[in-house]
Amino acid sequence: MANLARGKVFINVDECKGCGLCVESCPPRCLVLGTELSAYGVRPAAYTGKECTACGICFYCCPEPGAITVYRVRKPTKTVGELQPGGSYAAAL
Ligand code: SF4
Ligand code: SF4
Repeated sequence: MANLARGKVFINVDECKGCGLCVESCPPRCLVLGTELSAYGVRPAAYTGKECTACGICFYCCPEPGAITVYRVRKPTKTVGELQPGGSYAAAL
């Protein structure tokens, strides 16, 4: 199945304290706690890479400033074809 994610999340493992609040609050359940310990001895959150909607809930519930950054995937902008003599448009692609 195609990955239809509208967003993606970056977790800063040096700021994450592994509390799991983001994991529990993510509606599509696309965050998990990792299996490896960070330098602080916690299991930081990780993005599964699928289905993030960029809702931002994880960002707002995270108690650690800078631990989560949410990116919204931009739709490609439509290219408008050039207007040809006579009023028709050339194909954009
Ligand atoms: S932005 Fe929303 S969908 Fe994406 S990981 Fe955070 S809570 Fe989940
Ligand atoms: S809420 Fe923040 S500190 Fe807690 S696991 Fe998620 S990213 Fe880490």
